[in-house]
Amino acid sequence: MNLKKISLIGLGTLGTQIAIQAAYYGCEVKGYDQDPEIFQKTIQKVKGMMKFLGKGPTMPAEEWEKAASKVKLVKDLCEALKDADLVIEAVPENLELKRKVWAQLDALAPKGALMATNSSSIPVSRIESATQRPEKCLNIHFYQPAIGMIIVDVMGGTKTSPEAIEAAREFVRSIHCIPLGVKKEILGFCFNSVWRAIKKQTLYMWGNGFVDFRDIDRAWMVFTNQPQGPFGMMDLVGLDVVYDIEMSYYNESKDPRDIPPKAFKDMIDRKELGVKSGKGFYTYPNPEFSRPDFLKG
Ligand code: NAD
Repeated sequence: MNLKKISLIGLGTLGTQIAIQAAYYGCEVKGYDQDPEIFQKTIQKVKGMMKFLGKGPTMPAEEWEKAASKVKLVKDLCEALKDADLVIEAVPENLELKRKVWAQLDALAPKGALMATNSSSIPVSRIESATQRPEKCLNIHFYQPAIGMIIVDVMGGTKTSPEAIEAAREFVRSIHCIPLGVKKEILGFCFNSVWRAIKKQTLYMWGNGFVDFRDIDRAWMVFTNQPQGPFGMMDLVGLDVVYDIEMSYYNESKDPRDIPPKAFKDMIDRKELGVKSGKGFYTYPNPEFSRPDFLKG
């Protein structure tokens, strides 16, 4: 299986970046979203993020924009799926919605096409039964920002064939990303589970008044040589998105220790959502952590 014709369904924050990454590295990419304006809007949003990411995208900014023009935007779902080797769904994180969309995609995509969800927290085993092709269904999970974070989790469902997994891993490599295999289903996949442990502990320490979040970020930046720490990263992802993900872990475990601290929920209620609202733990577009003296403490 050589996955070259890729259909992106949902062109929001992640779908747009995945489409551009794949187009840049030579895939034939078609994109569909129910909102015809969203691709251009997301490009502007991501360009805004690039300014303080420091680490930069996997390709120069001007190349990134050129690659965006290679993504063929399609208004008709049938046209978007015709000829696809791989369909990547990146619609909002809602199981009902995803199952509904997957049933539609399954009916329209070529029978041989693989189907993947970019979901952050839903294992494909909960979606595959909406299709007639469970052996071709998988999780292919990109990280935010997909333009610079080149790790991608690959996890199968209950019936996914080894050939489908290997083809997905090869696709990820072909667009210059690193596939992280998951041998047995786990909530959070490979690295997201690790990142989740970091979020849980750092939110607990800040939310219960043990430390200033800036000191955690400083330590992280020095320790990992990254341009921001966990709180800067959470701002980037969106604090509402982080909250929903944390609550999905809680809904799974029912362990009260999995509920994020009240101070975090209060921020979301005040609409302090991170980069997208201009304020989260930091204030944007010039967050404190990107200033030269931040690491002086
Ligand atoms: P988003 O809200 O930015 O984008 C979702 C897009 O889906 C929107 O543009 C919306 O118009 C479109 N959409 C909704 N219903 C649709 C339909 N029926 N058909 C076609 N398009 C439809 O969301 P996002 O942040 O890009 O997240 C998408 C997926 O990626 C989610 O499953 C999320 O868990 C996952 N994800 C998000 C992040 C992140 O940091 N934001 C990181 C990794 C994975």
